[in-house]
Amino acid sequence: MTARAQQPQGPVWERVSAALRGQASGEQPVCAYVYDLGTLVRQVETVRAALPERCELYYAIKANGHPAVLSTLAASVEGFEVASLGEIDKAVAAGASRLVFSGPAKTDTQITGALRAGVDLLNVESLHELRRVALIGARLSVRVPVALRVNRQASGLPGTLRMAGSATQFGVDETLLAAALELARALPALALRGFHLHAASNNLDADAHASFVTDSVMWCLRQADRHRINLDVIDVGGGIGVAYTGGAGFDLRRFADGLGATIGQLPSGVRLIFELGRFLVAAAGWYAAEVIDLKCTHGRYFAVLRGGTHHFRLPAAWGYSHPFAVLPIEGWRYPFARPQVQAVCVDVAGELCTPRDVLAQQVWVERLRIGDIVVFPLAGAYGWEISHHDFLSHPHPAQLVINSQ
Ligand SMILES: *Cc1c(COP(=O)(O)O)cnc(C)c1O
Repeated sequence: MTARAQQPQGPVWERVSAALRGQASGEQPVCAYVYDLGTLVRQVETVRAALPERCELYYAIKANGHPAVLSTLAASVEGFEVASLGEIDKAVAAGASRLVFSGPAKTDTQITGALRAGVDLLNVESLHELRRVALIGARLSVRVPVALRVNRQASGLPGTLRMAGSATQFGVDETLLAAALELARALPALALRGFHLHAASNNLDADAHASFVTDSVMWCLRQADRHRINLDVIDVGGGIGVAYTGGAGFDLRRFADGLGATIGQLPSGVRLIFELGRFLVAAAGWYAAEVIDLKCTHGRYFAVLRGGTHHFRLPAAWGYSHPFAVLPIEGWRYPFARPQVQAVCVDVAGELCTPRDVLAQQVWVERLRIGDIVVFPLAGAYGWEISHHDFLSHPHPAQLVINSQ
């Protein structure tokens, strides 16, 4: 079936398009991210309302580190998951109350900085790292609260990216669990609080996610019992996905229902932490860029944008065609006729000098004119953050913040 350009409606779209139209009257072609704090707050409220009360909601700030996004989230989640000193600085500036620190290659400087910043939990990823954290903790005279990140034999969680249940650079292999726990116990500067089991990203299957969490909780309880650990934290990470190209999204209700029995078995005092990134912020961001040129080569139509994958890399990185809407702009800068295409399929490409700079492919448009704006929804997570901004040294997009609350 041919994909068609979207025709969004409603109050949020009105706000987004008004913000972009405001840019279109400027000197330069439009190129912008729009973040809507209202959408963000409603999404957090939806997740909160669905998750059982015992669950703690953290935000993984690598998904979107815009200061307005962070300060909005700081007020509505239990804490932030961070993985560098830069992220700690951003989290602290945004007023985050609690921090969980992860990452497979923490340097001594980072560990020291994280402890000085007062992180509440350090997710440790190897035996060598356990020793280093203990050494640094002893030097600073702090007892470091740690969770052991484990790459289990089977994680049972599907997703676009997998971090556990298979060979990856993350966590301690499950076969080394007993040795790691023995080591942690022997290091007085460490306070072992529990386990960290982040296993995948962009999983859309609610039943699979509920079984993953259930299985994780049961596994942690078993290990705590077997190894006599005073279990305080079960951190099941993030990974709830977004249906970028349409189809059924992650069914939050179904997930929460699937969790019900597990929560009942969670001993009081044991914290169940979720660290969501993508699912909290994706819908709160749009990437928009003006059509600079239209052409047909070898029988295929191209719209070429003032922007591209150096701002919004996700579709190119994952090899899919990202949906978009056309925002018609009536103003026209030139003293000659305005080129347009009508009722054709277009590929939407960016301004970079590489044929890989493509955001959408073979999408039917009723009409597209040079000077119109192409708007990509669901761009609030891993959009700007993961892109190679300075490749070709074009100006960065504007970052507009609106609030539909
Ligand atoms: C990236 C990451 C997350 C968030 O993942 P999402 O797929 O965006 O929910 C959570 N925890 C850790 C350790 C991560 O690296």
